Amino acid sequence: MTLPDIDVAIFGAGLAGRLCALQLARAGRTVALIERDGPDGRGAAAHIAAAMLAPLAESAISERSVVEMGMASVPLWRALIDTLPTPVFFQQDGTLVVWHAGDRNEATMFASRVRAVAPADAVQAQFRAVDGDTIAELEPALAGRFRQGLFIGGEGQLDNRMVLDALRVALEAEGVHCVWHAGEVDVSSLPGLGLEAGLVLDCRGLGARRDWPALRGLRGEVVRIHAPGVRLHRPVRMLHPRYPIYIAPKPGDVYVIGATELESDDMSPMSVRSALELLSAAHSLHPAFGEARILELNVQCRPTLPHNLPEIIAEHVRDVPVVRVNGLYRHGFMIAPAVTQAACTVAQAWLDDGAGALPAVRASARWPEMYGGTAFDSQLENA
Ligand SMILES: Cc1cc2nc3c(=O)[nH]c(=O)nc-3n(C[C@H](O)[C@H](O)[C@H](O)COP(=O)(O)OP(=O)(O)OC[C@H]3O[C@@H](n4cnc5c(N)ncnc54)[C@H](O)[C@@H]3O)c2cc1C
Repeated sequence: MTLPDIDVAIFGAGLAGRLCALQLARAGRTVALIERDGPDGRGAAAHIAAAMLAPLAESAISERSVVEMGMASVPLWRALIDTLPTPVFFQQDGTLVVWHAGDRNEATMFASRVRAVAPADAVQAQFRAVDGDTIAELEPALAGRFRQGLFIGGEGQLDNRMVLDALRVALEAEGVHCVWHAGEVDVSSLPGLGLEAGLVLDCRGLGARRDWPALRGLRGEVVRIHAPGVRLHRPVRMLHPRYPIYIAPKPGDVYVIGATELESDDMSPMSVRSALELLSAAHSLHPAFGEARILELNVQCRPTLPHNLPEIIAEHVRDVPVVRVNGLYRHGFMIAPAVTQAACTVAQAWLDDGAGALPAVRASARWPEMYGGTAFDSQLENA
């Protein structure tokens, strides 16, 4: 296939790739989006994610910068979804955190970590302890089951598959050249694809590992169930020293129960142990989950860097300017709008003004520590 010369070739049509493609196309760039698998996103971690947008809840295990990126991204999602051609389930009704009486130490640790990491004004405005009556008001299905909990207002979630599909429809309608089933591509594939690109944006997630050896996979397993007998309105997290879980309700009485986190890039099917842990924990949240039907047992690996933070790298490969965005780890949906916006700003500056413009982009960025690569650092590159 021969495509016209384009401004940006994007590798990988998972979450980051689709978001970058739409931003750049809407900024007037000609864009080709090249994906090894099909348009449904099955090759992407994004296809199985719970897609919770929960920066305060995640601050219990994250750095401050990730929390800030998550807080900046929720309104960006809302604005983006309004412009998409097909509906996307998006909700901002908060997160409920509960625990069984014997696990109250987990709650103390969770709350103190959130207070230590998240911005104080957000904690003040959004984070509060709730008693059994308030839990019953928030989630009538849990009435009488938990005496204490934490409620984090303003947190959101969306339907991952609806958003991937809505982005695909938007991309195709807005003139992005989408190349599906391209197989594994890298910069050396451009001539074979009949492509001349002004810049490559590498959004291959874990598939970029050969070019970014520090990347590692963090295996995550989730169960998708159909449970019309339970009615939860918002994501519920249950704290536990060994099996902390979340249950995220999706449209149609579907729930995503997750997630394991294993230091492994093993993509083999879910283990019996993990299935038992996830399903037992859901059953202990509410016994009616025992009557749910299991729709899917899913496994994917989260693309993760050593510090568990996202990065944007700019470098030349075979004389082609390449911007790589990766390391979205367990927060891709939560932070991708902010991170991809930053990556697109780098790409635009490089296309418009050359590598010499990049240090200024980094210097004026909100999270400068996210940027790296020879094109930012080397005098030679900037000459
Ligand atoms: C179990 C689980 C639960 C999660 N839950 C949440 C959550 O609740 N909230 C949240 O914010 N995040 C969550 N995440 C994290 C989120 O899914 C990831 O951070 C995000 O999907 C990473 O986006 P990405 O675009 O970098 O990679 P991906 O979404 O994995 O996309 C990479 C794409 O590149 C393609 N590709 C790879 N190699 C090549 C190649 N050589 N050539 C062409 N194409 C290639 C792949 O096929 C894929 O389509 C979860 C992840 C997992 C695994």
